[in-house]
Amino acid sequence: MLLKELTQAFGVSGFEDEVSQLIITNVKEHADEVFVDALKNVIVLKKGKGINKKKIMIASHMDEIGFMVLSITDKGYLKVRNIGGISIYMSVFNKVKFRNGIVGIVDYQDSIAEAKGNDIGKLYIDIGAKSKEDALRYIAVGEPAAYVGDYVELPNNRVCAKAMDDRVGCYVAIEALKKLGTPYNDVYFVFSALEEVGLRGSKVAAQRIKPDIGVAIDITGSYDTPQGGNGNMMFGQGAAIKIMDNSVICSDKVVESMIETAQKYNIKYQLDVLPSGGTDAGAINQSNEGVLTGGISIPTRYGHSPVSMVDMFDVNCCIELVTHFVDKEFKF
Ligand SMILES: [Zn+2]
Repeated sequence: MLLKELTQAFGVSGFEDEVSQLIITNVKEHADEVFVDALKNVIVLKKGKGINKKKIMIASHMDEIGFMVLSITDKGYLKVRNIGGISIYMSVFNKVKFRNGIVGIVDYQDSIAEAKGNDIGKLYIDIGAKSKEDALRYIAVGEPAAYVGDYVELPNNRVCAKAMDDRVGCYVAIEALKKLGTPYNDVYFVFSALEEVGLRGSKVAAQRIKPDIGVAIDITGSYDTPQGGNGNMMFGQGAAIKIMDNSVICSDKVVESMIETAQKYNIKYQLDVLPSGGTDAGAINQSNEGVLTGGISIPTRYGHSPVSMVDMFDVNCCIELVTHFVDKEFKF
């Protein structure tokens, strides 16, 4: 199962190589061109046949949040900093893994129940070392670590794993690419690097591609749990068509066009207003001289944790919507 492989690959921001290799293996026979740039973005071109074709950039980010070793204490514990939006509360008593396979346990040096704010400086990782000297046999300063989170199949076609953000978006893009024959438009599938540290990869990729239309495929919230919240999105209600998040207010022409596509092909959809957090859509929107931009989102529970969950019904709706959206003739 490709989604399982994608979520289990190591890909903390800046260290996306294992994910990019897996993606290249899965896209190369379906693509006209595959290119990797200096920031590690994987840019996959599927050429279109339309007379009035446009350049469409579809961005799904490969990177996941994680940790980086800052220093090692005399007793062999690792002090770390965050790479992206790490929460201390979601980290304590979880496992993390380094690129060489070394596993560590995350704990907090004070009572987590009394923690105020999100002081990453009080986290430490215990890899079982006896001393600093011992720890240095396994780990160096600057080594990145990612959460461990097995891929688990749950009832009702729901699955959970680490790094659904945004490997499920990469999965949607790959499956859409596989389903496309020769599309109407030139489609640039960008598997972007460095999203979690400030939308860096997609910014650079958009400068290279100069798209007419940009679309970010990323996770959004799902507000149908006891924790609730004010969002609209829910499991089982289909592809979430982005209206806005912190990084972008989507181009109304793109939003209307996505809704029209969903209605035409009977694809279940819901409207996505993300209460907080940004996406690659913001970077594409503000690139070049401005790009018409939208987003297709996968409702996700427990994002940025080792146990993020999606409903495959929604995932499949997103694949359908991407496939049909990039294949239409745009009148704007
Ligand atoms: Zn994301």
